[in-house]
Amino acid sequence: MEREVRVRFAPSPTGPLHIGGVRTALYNYLFAKKMGGKMLLRIEDTDQNRFIPGAENYIFEALEWCGIKLDESPVVGGPHAPYRQSERKPMYMEYAMKLVNEGNAYYAFDTAEELDAMRERLKAAKVATPQYNSITRNTMKNSLTLPEDEVKQRLANGDPYVIRLKVPRKEEIRLKDMIRGWVMVHSSAIDDKVLMKSDGMPTYHLANIVDDHLMEITHVIRGEEWLPSAPLHVLLYRYLGWESTMPEFAHLPLLLKPDGNGKLSKRDGDKLGFPVFPLNWVDPFTGEKSSGYRENGYLPEAFVNFLAFLGWNPGTQQEIFSMDELIEAFSIERIGKSGTRFDQNKVKWYNEQYLRAKPDEELAVYLLDALKEHNIECSPEKAAKIASVMKERVTFPQDFWREAKYMFIAPETYNEQVAAKKWNSQAVNIFEQFKNELPGIEVFMAEEIKHLLNSILERNGMKLGAVMQALRLAITGVEAGPDLMAIIEIIGKEETVKRLETAIEKLQPYALKTA
Ligand code: GLU
Repeated sequence: MEREVRVRFAPSPTGPLHIGGVRTALYNYLFAKKMGGKMLLRIEDTDQNRFIPGAENYIFEALEWCGIKLDESPVVGGPHAPYRQSERKPMYMEYAMKLVNEGNAYYAFDTAEELDAMRERLKAAKVATPQYNSITRNTMKNSLTLPEDEVKQRLANGDPYVIRLKVPRKEEIRLKDMIRGWVMVHSSAIDDKVLMKSDGMPTYHLANIVDDHLMEITHVIRGEEWLPSAPLHVLLYRYLGWESTMPEFAHLPLLLKPDGNGKLSKRDGDKLGFPVFPLNWVDPFTGEKSSGYRENGYLPEAFVNFLAFLGWNPGTQQEIFSMDELIEAFSIERIGKSGTRFDQNKVKWYNEQYLRAKPDEELAVYLLDALKEHNIECSPEKAAKIASVMKERVTFPQDFWREAKYMFIAPETYNEQVAAKKWNSQAVNIFEQFKNELPGIEVFMAEEIKHLLNSILERNGMKLGAVMQALRLAITGVEAGPDLMAIIEIIGKEETVKRLETAIEKLQPYALKTA
């Protein structure tokens, strides 16, 4: 019988989830849903020294914001609860003991000083990577070198010990990665990893394998940084007798900095000019703040669409994908092998596309919220109209207010450069007539307004192009914006007349010259 696809996202709550982590979660989710399977979240918190308060909640919140729905987790529970490794602590020793009893692992009693001395010795002997392995273990204090009685005595005395994996000396370990194909590693490159620490907690390696097995995980999709650990994991599956149900592995390519030089890391924070975290984060110890995509005004749909394309592509020209479309199109075969550069302009582009696709009434809400903060009244209909003319010019929801401010507040200053270039006596002459005749327009709509302006210009033997920028300056104070006639229609007759009067007065020095 085909096994049901079951994947897991297994972060350690050692800080805020980085966008690379969110991408890993997303790919797991897309794959699980595509295959009609399940995705679970497991919190890998066995390293208590690295525990950071708030990090776990941050993970839940970030996944929820992205629309990644979990079938099993510490919050929703599930058939394999608990889903937090610290709460599963009593389960791991049994497996470590199986490894010890079958000769695949051993007790090691070396003190920190003894381990340091060993490394120093090896360094002095010019050994490239000094480590506890199939050769050096013979010179150390462990159950392979000490007499049996002494081992028993030490254990009975409660002497501190760790359990280490006994990695074979000469063996080729092979594993098939779904993205990279066959990966071969010689066992001499692997050290005798600690499986159980002296505090009775398992290390990542043991806990991860035991849990993936018990939770019936079929596919392990994770970042490339875990590839070096994969051969060790294969050994563990083998020694625990679980090789026949070992999950398939897919190691995702790295996310690189925009210039391609190195991995995009948590430490990059906001230094590169864009957030590396999905949500804002305040370090509970240092108070250091890092900004998030959510608080910067990114829509979760845009963020998810962008992330999906950081390492995967559908093989077509289509770039806009809803979550359901991503699920439909997703396949591990289309994930690239090489690292993907982060592209800040692309994530902005996605946000623009998703914003523009929203109905005007929805966009109006962004504007109405900002207006409320500034104590400005506006009907939903008017806000929708403004949103409609502004939406081609915004990247973030907060841009609506910034871009549309002049729709509500008359300009107090004018762009000097435009004034110097475009304001002149001929233009003022046209605006005088325009402001006098505007009140006569019956249906105050863009078309009619333009018609009036054109007829005045014609009467004076002038072209629209000669006054347009000056007119925009008078009405908005700035040099660029959406269709000016639409702006005039929105701000209304009286306000337009007022603004023209003010501009004519304030810009008088510029009117002394002719075109
Ligand atoms: N706890 C590991 C992490 O923080 C999990 C790695 C894995 O998926 O095996 O990324």
